[in-house]
Amino acid sequence: MTLPIRPNRGANIDITDVTKTYGRFVALRDVSIDIRQGEFMTFLGPSGSGKTTMLNMIAGFTEISGGDIRIGGNSLAGLPAHKRNIGVVFQHYALFPHMTVYKNIAYPLTLRKIPKAERDKQVRAIMQMVKLEDFAHRYPSELSGGQQQRVALARALVFDPPLLLMDEPLGALDKKLRDWLQLEIRRIHRVLGTTFVYVTHDQEEALTLSDRIAVFNNGRIEQIGTGRELYDEPKTLFVGTFIGESSVLRGPLEVIGDASALTICGTKVHCRQRPVTTGDQVILIRPEKIALYGQPADVPAGMNRLTGVVSESLYLGSAVKYDVKLADDTTVIARVGLTQTQYGIGDTVVVAWDPADSRLLPDTALADRSLT
Ligand code: ATP
Repeated sequence: MTLPIRPNRGANIDITDVTKTYGRFVALRDVSIDIRQGEFMTFLGPSGSGKTTMLNMIAGFTEISGGDIRIGGNSLAGLPAHKRNIGVVFQHYALFPHMTVYKNIAYPLTLRKIPKAERDKQVRAIMQMVKLEDFAHRYPSELSGGQQQRVALARALVFDPPLLLMDEPLGALDKKLRDWLQLEIRRIHRVLGTTFVYVTHDQEEALTLSDRIAVFNNGRIEQIGTGRELYDEPKTLFVGTFIGESSVLRGPLEVIGDASALTICGTKVHCRQRPVTTGDQVILIRPEKIALYGQPADVPAGMNRLTGVVSESLYLGSAVKYDVKLADDTTVIARVGLTQTQYGIGDTVVVAWDPADSRLLPDTALADRSLT
């Protein structure tokens, strides 16, 4: 028997110019994110970048220092956490050890004084959704980590919240279980239509799960976009190097009409973009866009080309990854298909790529994080 799950439409969340300070330390500065109804939004960034602080401010566990957060158009200012009607799942499951799985999951409904028959219906429906029907009478200590996390997920969803917040919920689990639970979380999101906001520092997890990703760095948002947008069109050097692999070239800049070039080891490499800001610029290239040649004469006309020496090669099964060292010590990474010519460590090679695959980005340093 399939029990009824009521898909909800999820809430939209408007985060506008939110700032959080601790004394003179700025944990978050002017963060604005619009999260759409029913969206799977991931906050991705390195440790300390401010993801959890942002999540906790939505949940109501941390006060905001400036700006506003609205859910479904209503400001959360002054509303305590227990009145926000938001589901929350943490890395550590925080289950009640003296309650069975059933009672843990039913708890939010008991708090809300939902009549017993209705409560039972909702608990059984959500237990079925997270595949826990056979564990109803067990205690948390009798469950594996993955099962405990599914109980936490069911408990956060049982009262049908329009928004679910998850902070590194799979962080404590082994890789195989994490991969499986990622698929489960995606399935549950699809079925329910609830808005999900998910925190992780793992870019692969973010790419697997999300409709869109907000990249946090040093208390600010660097870029918000789909995984593909972030990979193909990073707006900052941080995003380009944090999401996926890339090579970064630095050298004197020349602007040529709507295009530009950097001089690297005495050779001009071209880019079809012009700088959007003043100051130093870099060229970023993805490894799959780079081809290797044995001789400069073999490189097709119109391609950028630089000579270097293979310093490392790694067989990846479907391709070989090469590190090529240029004369200025920069490493260029190339991923070469198995049907292409292969090279050995110490070989001199020409790295070549289409100027359309050069991404020109400002060479940014980390901003100061204290109050000015
Ligand atoms: P992680 O992935 O390690 O959890 P995060 O991106 O979630 O990192 P936050 O926990 O949001 O980072 O922390 C952001 C910054 O704010 C960090 O530098 C942290 O030390 C600081 N911070 C957090 N809570 C406090 C506090 N209560 N007092 C002072 N500083 C704090």
